[in-house]
Amino acid sequence: MATQTIENYLKALFSLAEQTETINVTDLAKRMEVSLPTVNSMVNRLASMGFVKYEKYKPLELSDAGKKQAALIIRKHRLTEMFLAEKMGIGWDEVHEIAEHIEHLKSPLFFDRLDEMLGYPSHDPHGSPIPDKNGQVEAQDLRKLSEFSGGDIVILKALGNTTEQFLRYLDEKELALESVIRIVKVEEFDGSMTLSWPGQTAQVFSEKVCSVLLVNAMNRES
Ligand SMILES: [Zn+2]
Repeated sequence: MATQTIENYLKALFSLAEQTETINVTDLAKRMEVSLPTVNSMVNRLASMGFVKYEKYKPLELSDAGKKQAALIIRKHRLTEMFLAEKMGIGWDEVHEIAEHIEHLKSPLFFDRLDEMLGYPSHDPHGSPIPDKNGQVEAQDLRKLSEFSGGDIVILKALGNTTEQFLRYLDEKELALESVIRIVKVEEFDGSMTLSWPGQTAQVFSEKVCSVLLVNAMNRES
């Protein structure tokens, strides 16, 4: 039976795999905030459990069993976040920390009921997809806002950064998921963008911010 630590390693490997092509032990050590020897012994343990494919000096990779296990933990995490936000009215910047604990609860009944109460949501409060009961994750076909041009209209669907700090920044700007955003202007000098969306006066956002706003294109303004 997987312990909490093992589950956290699987989750870290899963999210690293989403961000980079190859994962090495150093990346994992950095992510888990532990030393290299600690990561090495944990990776050996995960490999012996069949969750990780690992050969010395080669990149780390989750096995299919490891991917499924990780996705099922992420499912519990994201369903919990959705419940906290939707049913308990807890802010999207506060749900993650609580979900970090509840995701380790071993009760299929609890999470099935949560899923049902929420009406089987496809995404968490940050727009990230909730894996299904078989650990399958819906592919998201989203683009970074920073790739668009002046005059384009997009819908904000998800976030590439879900830290409390960034979520509070968006709250201050009153920018929420599903907002229809018009790109008023792109500054050639630094890639910053002037954006407007209903109910707000136009505001300038840095390229750093625009690169973690994940969007779908709408029609181009004529
Ligand atoms: Zn979270």
